[in-house]
Amino acid sequence: MTLVRHWVIRHAGAIERLYRSFERVLVFCGPLFKAVGFHRLEKPVAFIESRAKKFFFGCHMCGECTLMSTGMACPMTCRKSLRNGPCGGVRPDGSCELDKTIKCTWVNAWEGASRMGSGAAIGRQQRPVHYNKFGRSSWLRVAQKELSAVSDFSNKGQAKKKSCKQEHARGRGLLEEKLRQGEFVVTVELSPPDSSNPEDILSRARLFGNMVDAINITDGSNANCHLSSLAAAVLLKQEGYTPILQATCRDRNRIALQGDILGAAALGIENLLCLTGDGVENGDHPGAKPVFDLDSTSLLGAVRGMCDEGRFLSGRYLKSAPNIFLGAAANPFAPPFDIRAVHMAKKIEAGANFIQTQYCFDINALRDFMRKVRALGLHNRAYILVGVGPLVSLKAANWMNENVPGVNIPKNIIKRMQTTENPKLEGKQICIELIREIIKIKGVAGVHIMAHRCEEIVPEILEESGLRGRHERKLNMAATVTLPVKQGRK
Ligand code: SF4
Repeated sequence: MTLVRHWVIRHAGAIERLYRSFERVLVFCGPLFKAVGFHRLEKPVAFIESRAKKFFFGCHMCGECTLMSTGMACPMTCRKSLRNGPCGGVRPDGSCELDKTIKCTWVNAWEGASRMGSGAAIGRQQRPVHYNKFGRSSWLRVAQKELSAVSDFSNKGQAKKKSCKQEHARGRGLLEEKLRQGEFVVTVELSPPDSSNPEDILSRARLFGNMVDAINITDGSNANCHLSSLAAAVLLKQEGYTPILQATCRDRNRIALQGDILGAAALGIENLLCLTGDGVENGDHPGAKPVFDLDSTSLLGAVRGMCDEGRFLSGRYLKSAPNIFLGAAANPFAPPFDIRAVHMAKKIEAGANFIQTQYCFDINALRDFMRKVRALGLHNRAYILVGVGPLVSLKAANWMNENVPGVNIPKNIIKRMQTTENPKLEGKQICIELIREIIKIKGVAGVHIMAHRCEEIVPEILEESGLRGRHERKLNMAATVTLPVKQGRK
């Protein structure tokens, strides 16, 4: 079967032409199908369609076929059912984060799209699957003109005029304000503890004092169970910190996610980072059911809809809409490299106001990525914060390379960690050198420091990299970034 899929991707251009002709035939036959009755044809056509598409594309019959927009690779074959691009965990050889033995669906999709006339459609936003359409024929929906050959489900222009009460007059918090003012911001990451004692997270947050602009609260990082990110974010907020709540699609479906986000807004949380999340296989509950009802792009679209249109994904209106500064993640350091800027553009289009990247250990790869970002003008549409972090030992560096999805520590850094007499100092020095280089890259609005279990060295990193007194230095970013604060709302 893998050979067939390989063949399909290699000949995606020719298959696209054939498939397009076939869809024209379907549309032509629409009136005939209507006369016979679509409901009568559903079972036999779905049966034939599922067999044919399973053989060629590994199709899962989601009922909303996107093959023409995803390089002839079925997105439902992705282990996380991602419909809007690769996760950040694709391995350096292009294999799946969750299964080394298979090639990432989105590596195939990008290859296929590059051979297709409608290849650019891979940059379009796909809406989440309607599970009640699962198993139903897409061919009949094409004949009914419910589905087009190249699907585009972006929310653009779909905002209805009806509005709900909303308080957009108020700002979305200090983080947005600082970014708008052109400050080079620093965010740090905290993983909530395995504890019900608030002091266990507050004491770690106090290490940063007022040296950082916001604190990301991870949501079951590496698919391990911890204190809830929402509870931890509220605890920090009560102490005067600016939390960025992380929400992953791994553990909750669209009903739970939207409810939690509404709850977070009600509790005063202003910043949200939408993530797909690591596979459960990587965590301490490998037997848990992975949800992945939405992907991060769909979640961004859902929250943007709640904020700007004041309604849930279902279309039902809210009485009072949240007002959230919305973030997304990007990984410039994992293949397929050429799709990464396009993928980020998709997230910005879906609603991201700021981006935080995976750990950067390869400054040249970051420079390449930022060149593409600038060419697309994305640095003018969202604030980009680059992820960095100190390595504490050679063992930790090797472990991260092997076990943290999407982290790629190049050989020259591994060599420095191997040959040094003081690995902790060397790891900190590498981090400082990277920050100094990152500051010089045009379009970067800040750094995001991930110092897992070594938070105490963050103040030293800020001091020695010259970021401690940064609030006095403005980097003139504000004039260039235009955020879509109110889309389609009066
Ligand atoms: S690496 Fe990520 S995007 Fe690619 S197939 Fe695996 S889960 Fe899906």
